[in-house]
Amino acid sequence: MESSTVARIGRSGFYGTEIRHQYEMPRRISSTVPIRQAPNHLSTAAKRVQTITSELQVAVDAIERVKNGFKNFKSEVYEKEKELISKLAKGQSPKFMVVACADSRVCPTHILNFNLGEAFVIRNVANMVAPYEKSGYPGVGSAVEYAVLHLKVENIMVIGHSCCGGINALMSFPDDGPKQTAFIEDWIKIGQEAKFRVKKLHADLPFDQQVTLCEKEAVNVSLENLLTYPFVREGVLKGTLALQGGYYNFVDGTFDTWSFNDSLTPA
Ligand SMILES: [Zn+2]
Repeated sequence: MESSTVARIGRSGFYGTEIRHQYEMPRRISSTVPIRQAPNHLSTAAKRVQTITSELQVAVDAIERVKNGFKNFKSEVYEKEKELISKLAKGQSPKFMVVACADSRVCPTHILNFNLGEAFVIRNVANMVAPYEKSGYPGVGSAVEYAVLHLKVENIMVIGHSCCGGINALMSFPDDGPKQTAFIEDWIKIGQEAKFRVKKLHADLPFDQQVTLCEKEAVNVSLENLLTYPFVREGVLKGTLALQGGYYNFVDGTFDTWSFNDSLTPA
């Protein structure tokens, strides 16, 4: 890494030092250089270089962080699980499919202590599953199809969580009018039914409590949407597939689960 240009620039701050020097000089010879122009011009250049230098440092730090993370995984997990890794090289047969939020605080592999090969995981903003529609959201649909038809998972658990920014946005954004985001509103409106239910049944509650209820109800909406996938519904009716809701409250350190199959009857 020491031989890398990126590393050298980032660590020494060499260019940043040089530009600071150039920046100071015109102020001393202000009789020949217009004060208002020179410092402003050079200040902009200095700021640009400073920004680039700090960005390079950020990139170096990120690479180092990832390298150290993998080094730790390799020695603490990979090297100790050689037998399992060999088995997984021949194929995976996870029992769980998990749909969880992309939020950095709620990684299901961490909080549920899943081992390698144990859970097929989809993560997206606010743990949404859209209804079955071939032209809709193939990212989620293809993962559900693969997990159910090919991996033959036995459980699908959708996990909501406390302090979910996606659900807060769902509850906050106006239902109509011009959009304020490029993608977020279109995505989270998958859970709009949850918002309507909470607003209707709990109109008297403060907003933050409504958001908490919506974090849970949005899980139910995703589970209901999963039942619109023919192969999911068939698996549930045959008893080879179970749907479950989960809610991780990371503020209280609690994890609740509930079954979703009870009231399902053949269509
Ligand atoms: Zn979230």
